[in-house]
Formats: sequence, structure tokens, C-alpha cells
Amino acid sequence: MLVEQWGIRVPARKGEEVRQSLLRKMAIDLTLKPRREGDALVFPILDWREGAERCGFDAMPGRPELMRHELVGGIAIMQEDDPAGAAQILASRPSLHTVLFPTSEVTGEYRTREYGVLAGTPTTRTQVTEHGHRFTVDLASAYFSARLSTERQRILAQMGTRETVLDMFAGVGPFAITLAARAALVVAADINPHAIELMLENLTQNRVKNVLPILAEARRLAGVLPWKFDRIIMNLPLAGTEFLSEAFRLCRHGGTIHFYALVSQEGEHRDYIRELGGEVIDERVVRSYSPGQWHAVYDIVVQKE
Ligand code: SAM
Repeated sequence: MLVEQWGIRVPARKGEEVRQSLLRKMAIDLTLKPRREGDALVFPILDWREGAERCGFDAMPGRPELMRHELVGGIAIMQEDDPAGAAQILASRPSLHTVLFPTSEVTGEYRTREYGVLAGTPTTRTQVTEHGHRFTVDLASAYFSARLSTERQRILAQMGTRETVLDMFAGVGPFAITLAARAALVVAADINPHAIELMLENLTQNRVKNVLPILAEARRLAGVLPWKFDRIIMNLPLAGTEFLSEAFRLCRHGGTIHFYALVSQEGEHRDYIRELGGEVIDERVVRSYSPGQWHAVYDIVVQKE
């Protein structure tokens, strides 16, 4: 059973030196087996650190084989309703406080799901550390995915200084707070009041002072915001296409839109993007969604007359 955890990739020749250093810092996840990938070794670590990436690891031989689960801060989410397996997972890491099992699909406008508690403290709220930021999340009341951390860093690396950024579907603020490090201003909108409440907590605890949270339906933004933005994040993969023309209205000539979409063939949305006046400069797979469907991101440069 693969377990998703943070991993740190090092050249194999430096493996023993890095392993000893991680052991001294009590940073290595001893329940999981390091992975060999060509000339590199990937060590499982307990918490995010510079250069870490999300990876799947096997259980360490000799340790009880844990049921498949995903880690979000102090919460483990299992795929099966298995209280005995949940108790084992809870005992495997001191950082865990709760083990959950989803009792619904991701549904509704807020993109949330319901959970049952299998072990530990009965809560869906936890703290997630990501690239030096700390996010309070509540999995039952607002969307959050740790899997998008690499995407946030990819976009941050593309940014110039003093950009104005609009996050149209901001959730609890992970993109907005990450990109605020380089931006002049980030406007972060979401239709879910619980997400905006959590975003306010996250802005305070990360001491971020250049994000403007707005509780708003994304369709209304072009009618009320007086600015044209340098960069727009559209992270609503199942319905983003419905909002793409609004994003074009809100983006300046030469600005960039990062458009996340559910696709079943490469290039699926390119004709519509061209029709709106956009040039796709990159299209990449973010993660698989179901057999034959995946989340893609289109980086679009807006061309206006
Ligand atoms: N970008 C965030 C992240 O990475 O964690 C959240 C992305 S989540 C897939 C989509 C978000 O869009 C949800 O928080 C949901 O509440 C919000 N949303 C859905 N429809 C919306 C709309 N019409 N206007 C504004 N926000 C909306």
C-alpha cells in the first residue's frame, strides 16, 4: 500500500550523509521506506522543508503494513471504513491527531465532502505546513488539497515583482498567501463564507498584509473590481470554463491566466481559449482524476486589441 508523504530527493551518493542528518533532526518518517529513483534517493520526511515534494512510499519492512491513506496536516484520510487500520495509522506517527474516512464524494459549489471519524480526536480541522506557511484547514467546511503545493511554487517562480493577482476561487487562501510573497496585491475571492473565515485566520497567522479577501460569486467580479490584473488563478477544474470569459475581462493585455480544467484529451480547451483572445504558452497535467480524465493547467497569455 503506497502512503503519500513529503519526500526529499538527494543524489544516491549523498544518501547516507543525508539520512544521518535527518535522523539527528528527528525529521525522517521511520514508518516508510526510502525510494530509489535512478541516481536519486527519496527520503520520507515528517514535515515539509525546502525542496520537499509529495511522493508515494511503501511501508518500512518489519513495520506493520498500514492501510492506504493520505496525510493532510495532523489528519490521515483512509480509503476504507476500517477502525482497526485507523488505530494502527494513528499510532504510527506522533504528529497525527485524527483518522477520517470520506462518507460522500466531493460535492456542491463549495467542493467539500463529509467525513466519519475512525480514530483520534473527532475533528476535521487541522494545521498544514507548506513551504514555510501554516494553513488552518477544515476539510468538511472548505476545500483544501496538499497536492497542489507544487503548482503554487511553480506559479510563484514565474512571477515578476509587484504584480497584481486575482485568485477567483481562493478557498482558504493557499495560492493567495503563497503568491503574496512577490505580489503588490492579491485579491482572493470565494463564494464559501467558511473558506473566507479560514482565509482570514491564515492571513493573520502568516502575517500577510497584501491579500484582499472577498466573499463573492466569481461571475460578479468583473462588474465591480476596478482593476485589470497581471495574473489570474482559476482553480475550479470542473466548471472553470464557465468563468473563462470573465477572467479575460479582468486580465490586462499581456497578463497571464492559469486555468485549471478537467480534460479527457490534450488540447481540449485550446480552440475556446483562442476564440477569447488567448495564447496557450503551456499545457500540463496536474493529476489524474478518473480513468481517461485528468486535471490540466493551461498557462494563457491574454492578447487584447
Ligand atoms: N484554490 C483553492 C485551493 O487550491 O485550495 C480552492 C480551490 S476549490 C477546487 C474551488 C473553490 O471555488 C472552492 O473553495 C469553492 O467554494 C469556490 N467556488 C465555487 N464556485 C464559485 C463561484 N461561482 N464563485 C466563487 N467561488 C466559487
